[in-house]
Amino acid sequence: MRPTGRLHLGQYRGVLKNWIRLQHEYDCMFFVADWHALTTHYEESEVIEDSVWQMVIDWLASGVNPGSATLFIQSRVPEHAELHLLLSMITPLSWVERVPSYKDLMANSNDRDLATYGFLGYPVLQSADILIYQAGNVPVGADQVPHVEMTREIARRFNHIYGKTPGFEDLAKEAIKKLGRKNAKIYKSLRRDYLEQGNREALEEAQAIISEQQNVSLGDRDRLFGYLEGGGKVILPEPESLLTEVSVMPGLDGKKMSKSYGNTIALREDPESVEKKIRIMTTDPARVKRDDPGDPTICPVFELHKIYSDDETRNWVREGCTTAGIGCVDCKKPVVEKVLEELQPIRERARQYEENPDLVKSIVAEGCERARTIARSTLEEVRSAMGLDYR
Ligand code: SF4
Repeated sequence: MRPTGRLHLGQYRGVLKNWIRLQHEYDCMFFVADWHALTTHYEESEVIEDSVWQMVIDWLASGVNPGSATLFIQSRVPEHAELHLLLSMITPLSWVERVPSYKDLMANSNDRDLATYGFLGYPVLQSADILIYQAGNVPVGADQVPHVEMTREIARRFNHIYGKTPGFEDLAKEAIKKLGRKNAKIYKSLRRDYLEQGNREALEEAQAIISEQQNVSLGDRDRLFGYLEGGGKVILPEPESLLTEVSVMPGLDGKKMSKSYGNTIALREDPESVEKKIRIMTTDPARVKRDDPGDPTICPVFELHKIYSDDETRNWVREGCTTAGIGCVDCKKPVVEKVLEELQPIRERARQYEENPDLVKSIVAEGCERARTIARSTLEEVRSAMGLDYR
């Protein structure tokens, strides 16, 4: 997550709630992407400095648990940068230029100069962020799937170029024999289907067969995976997109809640400020006077009712609004209550971290150390595969 300001309810509902769920199901790595923030905010790096620690406090206060997940800061694990550099050597320019979000941001960023080398390369940095941990899954929304797809392509290209050790093919053929006659035959046929016809189902089926094998060594397993895709040893495994439930939180103007629209409610915002923001929210413009009936379907307040209210309250709004039975002030009250109810425990949990910055720093220091241990090990393999381990 990029540290470019205080976290808001949209990020809590859209991202953090997923993290909190995932941390119990997977071995999760969550990091503050400060280098990524620089790609767009290099002229305002002071925003990043303040946001880094505040972001970690928001995570902890929301329920991200350092006992279940590793929390760290990207720039404190410099191995990300070295892998980014090494991967950039093999990444074709056309791959980065075609990333959809790159094109969109370039076209729509009126107030920022994004024509930089760093911004062009950010998808490669993202790939390094993922591959350095040999991640199996990357939790993303549908719009970010192309990034993970590109990461897979970079990993495949890397493995193809650097995964061939001397005698690899002979060793792979020996490993196939160890699958047993029946599985070996199926493996060869599925490999042919994938390599000759690009049949991804065949690839997945063959990968499943390898994963089920109890009696093959780790080295043979790597060779079988690598040989399957025509290359050599798998040094950087291809990650999968873990499509997370998309919950788009409406902002104070009915558009998606986003800092760039200025329509957010921060996670640790004062209750008075939250109340005021909702109180002055625009409503159906047809309701000029209290007696004018309105239409909830075009009112941003009703969008918040869809998130926070039960059926009974929503029916009360529909009925009351369309008949002018209730005023907009009445209508907003239950939303204010629910939002404050959601934010209160977050604000309370945040207090212990706000009062004890050293605790936050020690959680992050521990996470950085854990992350570095994994990152160092991957990088050693990468350097060795590229012939750069002569230090
Ligand atoms: Fe919107 Fe509620 Fe007012 Fe209707 S009563 S216009 S839904 S705020």
